[in-house]
Amino acid sequence: MITLKNVEKIFKTKNGEVRAVDHVDLQINQGEIYGIIGYSGAGKSTLIRLLNRLEQATAGSVEVAGQDLTKIRGANLRKARQEIGMIFQHFNLLWSRTVRENIAFPLEIAGVDKAERMKRVDELIKLVGLEGREDAYPSQLSGGQKQRVGIARALANRPKVLLCDEATSALDPQTTDQILDLLVDINKKLGLTIVLITHEMHVIRKICHNVSVMENGKIVEQGSVLEVFRKP
Ligand code: ADP
Ligand code: ADP
Repeated sequence: MITLKNVEKIFKTKNGEVRAVDHVDLQINQGEIYGIIGYSGAGKSTLIRLLNRLEQATAGSVEVAGQDLTKIRGANLRKARQEIGMIFQHFNLLWSRTVRENIAFPLEIAGVDKAERMKRVDELIKLVGLEGREDAYPSQLSGGQKQRVGIARALANRPKVLLCDEATSALDPQTTDQILDLLVDINKKLGLTIVLITHEMHVIRKICHNVSVMENGKIVEQGSVLEVFRKP
């Protein structure tokens, strides 16, 4: 589903260059929950942003759902991005719109007609467990409910991949577990490939199948969660 070959991302700054992602190779299979863990500054967020072309690689190839994102642009890039949903630490909701309107937003942009939009929004509300909160505004929701809206919105265009950028880092431990349970449920029900970045070992241990450990832009260890974290 995702193949990165020799990927590099260099940021030019006033003081020189920062090699945020350094010769990374990565293979993520369809239907798995893949974790990328590392300390702050390791390059995790740059790496995940390469997976939907919020950042463009300086070298290497980034294939997601059959397309090399480093080589496409314009309408092809917009189409490829519909295969890739993303959720964020601070939810990035539209604050002046209701739950229903937030979830419908990407469907409007994709030109889905109104009847189909309403049908899909109702399905998504059920999927993430927000029945009864359709007309609430984000400011009226708990953190966990806001992230449920984020997840529903990310899934609206039926993507093949869901990217999670520290999606539970702003939540308390109990809410974190509820959101992780929801991600597992969605992974099973929809067969969706999930890629998450986190600095929390607990998140990796609880839901990931395979994991990469990042340090200084490099992947320093890679394998199943059992292999990487249960070594003697
Ligand atoms: P993480 O998500 O693991 O905390 P990041 O990907 O945010 O790591 O950052 C990796 C490195 O790249 C850091 O040294 C950071 O300062 C640098 N970096 C990230 N984004 C930029 C940018 N837009 N411009 C310059 N340097 C950046
Ligand atoms: P949360 O409170 O959901 O954790 P943040 O306070 O980090 O989220 O806000 C996320 C983004 O949304 C920020 O850019 C912030 O400025 C913006 N934001 C937060 N609350 C509102 C609001 N009531 N109206 C408009 N924008 C807001």
